[in-house]
This record gives sequence, structure tokens and C-alpha cells, in this order.
Amino acid sequence: MRSEPNHVLEFPGGYTRSVGPVIGRFLSELRDGRLVGVRTARGRVLVPPSEYDPDTGDDVTGEFVEVGPAGTVTTWSWVPRPAKEHPLRHPFAWALIRLDGADTALLHALDLGELAEGAEPPRSLATGMRVRPRWRTERTGAIGDIACFRPEVTMINAPARLEYDLRGGRALERFLEGIGEGRIRGHRCAVCGQVIVPMKGLCPRDGVPTSQEVELPDTGTVTTFAVNHIPDPRAPEVPFVSGYVLLDGAGVALLTLIAGVPANQVRMGMRVRAAWRPREEWGRTMANITWFEPSGEPDVPFDQIKDHL
Ligand SMILES: [Zn+2]
Repeated sequence: MRSEPNHVLEFPGGYTRSVGPVIGRFLSELRDGRLVGVRTARGRVLVPPSEYDPDTGDDVTGEFVEVGPAGTVTTWSWVPRPAKEHPLRHPFAWALIRLDGADTALLHALDLGELAEGAEPPRSLATGMRVRPRWRTERTGAIGDIACFRPEVTMINAPARLEYDLRGGRALERFLEGIGEGRIRGHRCAVCGQVIVPMKGLCPRDGVPTSQEVELPDTGTVTTFAVNHIPDPRAPEVPFVSGYVLLDGAGVALLTLIAGVPANQVRMGMRVRAAWRPREEWGRTMANITWFEPSGEPDVPFDQIKDHL
């Protein structure tokens, strides 16, 4: 609890002092919406700048370097009940923030949203958190020109709801019938000649109906992929890789799981082969192929897959 102080020292109208060329430059740049540090003789960038290198006591070089605006939290202290002098009305953190390009950290308020008084720090608050300043529109050349720092945007939550009925249709039925026999079938488009797999009875490029069946091998090349850290019941343990595989002879790539290789070794152009479940477990479903895994062949050069991304 805070008790009322017995004595107050206050300079009515504020205590005016000159800031010198180094701090002055920092504050002038702040007013213009930029963050700068000063370089020391040893090459370190001090933010906020000072006139002397704290390590050696030598004068700084006078070379100013633009830093940030983003930075990384190096340490923080939670304020569950802000006082009236504090920059934010709701709970926030005081954080030491090392701006990108700087070697020292700046103390500032970190706003994590409109939390109720007394709230615990959000679990997202951690050393290493990436943050950016929120600038005031009216700036005067003071550290308060930055109202606070805020976490970088790392996620969005968009409304996602789609209602639909799905009928396999003749082409997809025929495709799944093939999969049930261990065959991968596609349709060749009579206009562009590309093979579409799984076939949908329509060329996505030309919009014309397709019917000429082609059987494709179960080998192909990874065109693009994503490493996933959110568990999925169909996938192996996290992180797992989902990716597009361009089957040999196909014109469009197939979305599938890629496994049998550490996630950080999957690459564009990697050659893969379907890993089928044991035959006695096959049904008329794409689940007959557990995933695609490396075939051990040499990678395909980027030029050969670049038109299929
Ligand atoms: Zn076509």
C-alpha cells in the first residue's frame, strides 16, 4: 500500500535544464518519430545514449545510429495497480527493451491490453517478447513521446465459419476408388495438357470439363511447406510439416503431410514418396497414404518447381 508522503519537493512549472548535444539529439529524433543511439569507441550502440561510455568512461564517438523501432524485452516488472503518476491507467509492465540494433536496453512501459486492476501478468509476457513503440501524435521531444510499447502482432483472430455440403462427385469418387487400390489417378486437361490430381472433373486453369484418366506414380517433389506447432490428430508429433507435393507428371500439387524427416530438414525441391498404410487397412480414403517421406533422390532445382508454387 502507498501512504501519503510527509514531504514533497516540487518545482512549480518543472525543473528546466539543458540536455547537452547527445541527449538533445536523442530527444530531437524522438520528436520526429525516430529512435537513435550513439556509438562508443568500442563500437557498441547505447540507447538511450549517454555522453560517456559506461564501460570505459571515454567520450562517445558522436556517431548516431538509427535503431528499432521494434525491440526485445530483456527483463520486466509487473505493476498490477498503477499509481496516478504512471503512464497507464491499467496494469502494465515496466520493461527493459533492447531496440533492434542497440547494445543496451531502454526502460519503458509495456502495455499488454486493458486488464482489470490487480490482474496477474498475461502468460505472453516473457523475456524475449518482441515489442514496438506506440508513438503519440503530438510529440515534444521527451521520452513520453512514446506513449508505451506494445507486443508485436503475432496472431490474428478472424471470424471463420463456412457452411457447406460436400458431395464427392464422380471424379472424386473415381479418385478415391483408385486410392483404395493403391493407385493415384488424375485427369489430363485437353486444353492445357496438365494433369490435375486429385481430379475434380474440371481444369482449374481453363475451366473446361476433364475426363481423360492418367495414372501417376506415388513419387513427387515438395514445392512449398509449413512447419506446424499446433497439434493435429492426423499428424505425427509437433512440430510436423504439411506441404504441397507435386507428383511426377502432375500439373498441380497435392496438400499432404511430410514426415520421416526432422521438420527442420524439409526443403523446397525435396524428393518424396508416399508412405502407404498396410494394405489390409486400406479404404476408399486419402488416409491410405499416411504421409510422404523422403525418397533419398537428389533435390530438384528450384527452376523446375517455381511454376507450381
Ligand atoms: Zn487446362
